[in-house]
Amino acid sequence: NLSDKLDKAFHILKGHGKITEVNVADTLKEVRRALLDADVNFKIAKDFTARVKEKAIGQDVLTTLQPGQLLVKLVKDELTELMGGDVAGINLSGAPTVILMSGLQGSGKTTFSGKLANYLLTKKNKKPLLVACDIYRPAAIQQLYVVGDSIGVEVYSEPENKNPVEIAQNAIKHAKANGFNVVIVDTAGRLAVDQEMMDEISRVHKAIQPQETLFVVDAMTGQDAVNTAKAFNDILNFDGVILTKLDGDTRGGAALSIKSVVNKPIKFVGTGEKMEAIDVFYPVRMAERILGMGDVVSLVERAQEQFDEDEARKIQKKIAKNEFGFDDFLSQIQQVKKMGNMKDLVGMIPGASKAMKNVEIEDDAFKHIEAIIHSMTPIERSKPAIIDVKRKARIAKGSGTKIEQVNQLMKQFEQMSKMMKMMQGPGGKNLMKMMGG
Ligand code: GDP
Ligand code: MG
Repeated sequence: NLSDKLDKAFHILKGHGKITEVNVADTLKEVRRALLDADVNFKIAKDFTARVKEKAIGQDVLTTLQPGQLLVKLVKDELTELMGGDVAGINLSGAPTVILMSGLQGSGKTTFSGKLANYLLTKKNKKPLLVACDIYRPAAIQQLYVVGDSIGVEVYSEPENKNPVEIAQNAIKHAKANGFNVVIVDTAGRLAVDQEMMDEISRVHKAIQPQETLFVVDAMTGQDAVNTAKAFNDILNFDGVILTKLDGDTRGGAALSIKSVVNKPIKFVGTGEKMEAIDVFYPVRMAERILGMGDVVSLVERAQEQFDEDEARKIQKKIAKNEFGFDDFLSQIQQVKKMGNMKDLVGMIPGASKAMKNVEIEDDAFKHIEAIIHSMTPIERSKPAIIDVKRKARIAKGSGTKIEQVNQLMKQFEQMSKMMKMMQGPGGKNLMKMMGG
């Protein structure tokens, strides 16, 4: 994990009080390596670290802030700034608003057209129309109909017409006549940048004058994404970038490179094949992802949403008084379950997604645990110490588990109680805060 490395690299700084050229060099080498690992273009990574170095040197290292943390913050802020700083909105002016999709074949244009239509319909109260301008593959029109059907959005197509400019223009007329206020034009792509495709999209672009021309790119294509973005931007001068397939292992370095090369904001990201898998692009979260910090912010936010603060405070008191029992354990498990799918949660913890890659995580991982606790009597739950061999056998029988499983749970519970006690000591404050206490 990069922040661990930075902390280590900056250990020597303690007591020195300032970041100097000498002790920053190694650390920035680590930063550069992390960027390259995340698929950031070499020159961009180099320029970037040079800029951070300039800002870092001479900064006072506050005693309250670890020097490593200070540098991580500098790096993160700089990355965030590079990726646009703030969230870029979508321009919904015009009557109707015309949105044109561009990008290579397979980048995710058709899927994203549907996601955007669904987003505008459900979140922005719009009445969108999807337009099929991919005239080369009959299956492409069909695909858009499937997408439209699944979200309840009308699709406009002219299967006999081989002129995408006309189709797009007719679609806008149709929208005006029928009360649609957003027109999303899905276009054809090729496997690589080619003149014919560029001419065609450029003609459509000129004819319909969209409020938003969006360039859709597959985040997994890494360095190639940058060249493609440049080619499309030269022709279309597009308004924003859509980064798709961020649900894979990609760290999203392409986001940074594209932004640096074409200087256009990334507006949305695609995170799956489902119509709901669309997210507004947050530069700061992407900065964290590139740095390998995991989506900590999202995790904390979700934790804050879901954890009941009073409950956490009650539990804190119980731990302090050694009164933490199985009922509390059960309520903790229920809180964790409320936070969502276990796989999603693990994926957000820095480093964990790699380590857990080959481990099968069951969604109902807590099923046995819950059954065992439910088979305990109230007294056993509040005073686990009284659970002897005889009681264990009865609990196992009642819950349909084996006595080893009961033993295992007892051990886990003991460890958890111990850990929670420790968390109340110095240094554990933040963790408890994160849990809503
Ligand atoms: P187009 O040729 O640009 O229209 O691309 P499509 O929309 O047809 O997408 C190509 C493939 O990528 C399809 O199989 C989609 O299901 C898939 N796809 C699109 N967006 C995403 C995404 O965000 N995540 C994942 N995992 N797959 C995606
Ligand atoms: Mg398509």
